[in-house]
Amino acid sequence: MRRHLAVCTLVSLVAATLALAQAPPGRPLLVTIDDLPVAGGRLHTDQPERARITADLLAVLARHKVPALGFVVWSQVKDARDTALLEQWLAAGLELGNHTARHSDLGKTDTETYLADVEAGRAGLASLLARHGKTPRFFRYPFLREGETRAKLDTVRAALEQSGQRAVPVTIDDQDWSFEEPWVKARRAGDSTALARTAEEYQLALRLEVLTQTALGDELFGRPVAQVLLLHANEVGAAQWDALFTWLESRGYRFATADEVLADPAVAAPSSFVGTHGPGLWVRIAHDRGREAARTAVTTLLQEQAAAWNRGDLDAFCAVYADDAVFVTPKGITRGRQAVLDRYRTSYPTREAMGTLTLDPVEIREAWGFEPNPLGDAQPSRVHGLSLVAHWKLQKADGTEASGLTLLVFHRQAGRWLIVQDASM
Ligand SMILES: [Zn+2]
Repeated sequence: MRRHLAVCTLVSLVAATLALAQAPPGRPLLVTIDDLPVAGGRLHTDQPERARITADLLAVLARHKVPALGFVVWSQVKDARDTALLEQWLAAGLELGNHTARHSDLGKTDTETYLADVEAGRAGLASLLARHGKTPRFFRYPFLREGETRAKLDTVRAALEQSGQRAVPVTIDDQDWSFEEPWVKARRAGDSTALARTAEEYQLALRLEVLTQTALGDELFGRPVAQVLLLHANEVGAAQWDALFTWLESRGYRFATADEVLADPAVAAPSSFVGTHGPGLWVRIAHDRGREAARTAVTTLLQEQAAAWNRGDLDAFCAVYADDAVFVTPKGITRGRQAVLDRYRTSYPTREAMGTLTLDPVEIREAWGFEPNPLGDAQPSRVHGLSLVAHWKLQKADGTEASGLTLLVFHRQAGRWLIVQDASM
C-alpha cells in the first residue's frame, strides 16, 4: 500500500513537472465572467442591446484567444432569445458554469433555501448543456460569499462536491461591476467626458487589483502562482476588455483554461475563511494565516510566562503586560504593569512561595472585522486583539495545589502582543 502510494506520488510529480515543462511561457490567468447572460440586468432590458453586448464581449474574447469561463444566473435567462445568447457562448467554445438561479447571498439565506437555489441554477443550465452532451462542472458563489458560519460553509461545500460542481475561487476580485451604471448612464446621455473618466477609472481599478493580488499570491506561496480574474458580462466590459487584456498580455499573463489554473495547488488551496462577506482567495488565505499566527503567538507567550514564573523571574513574567494593563481579581483592581509586578512580589516573596505554574489555553477568540478597501470592497481586517481563557494550576512546595481560570485580553502594540486586561479567578 505504502509503495503504491509512493509510486502514485512519483507519477503525479513527474506528470506535474512535465506539464510545467510543456506549459507555454507566461503566468496562467483564468478569466471568469459572472452574471450571464447579461450582468446588471435591470439596466439592459432591451433585447437588441443584450445581443449587442454579448456579441461585443465574445468578439474581444476571441481577439485575445481567452478560454473564459462564464457563470449563468438562471433566473436571468428570461426567454428563448436569452437562451440563444448563451448558445453563442457555447458556440464560441467557452464553458458555462452555475451561478445559482436567483443569485442568493449565502450570508443572508438559510442553507436549505440556498441549496435549493443552487440546484435550480444547476438544473436549468444542465438542460441547456445536455443539448451539447455536456454537464455543469463549475460553480461560483454569488457575491463570493461562502457562509458566515462554519456549518454553512461545510454543508454547501459537501453538497457541491456531491453534485459534481467544483466551486471556482476568485483571486483577483476587482469591483468591475461598479463601473457599469456610470458607463451606461454616460453612454445614454452622450457624455463623452464621463465615458472617458469611467474608462480611465475602470482600467486603473482593475490594474491596481491585478498587481496587488499578484504580489499577495506570490508572497503567500513563494512562487509565481496562477490567477483567477473576476469580470462581469456587462457593457463597460465589452468596451474596456480589449485594453485590459492587452495590458495583461504586456505584463506577462497568459490566458489559460479553468482546468489548467485549477490544477495549481495554490488556487486549489483550502481556506476555512468564514465571514459575512466574500473576499478573494489570497485575502482569505492571508487572513487564515494571520489568525493562526496570532493564536500561536499568544499561546507561545503563555508558555514563556509559565517558564519565567517557574524559574522565579517575575520581571519576565510581567513583561507581557502593557504599561497600562488592568489586573482584576475578586479582591479588586490593580492598574499598570508596575503595580501588577509589585503585587506579585508581595504575594510571592520567595521562589519557594511561587511553586510551579502551568497555563493551559481553553478558548481563544480573535477580534477582527470587515473594512472597506480603496475600491469600496469589504475586506477582513488584521487581527487587532484577542481574548483567551486559560486554566491555571499552581503546585506549591508543601504539596498543596491551587487552580482556577483566567480571562486575558491581548492587544497588538508595535508588533508585540501584550496583555491589556487580566481577570483571574
Ligand atoms: Zn454574480
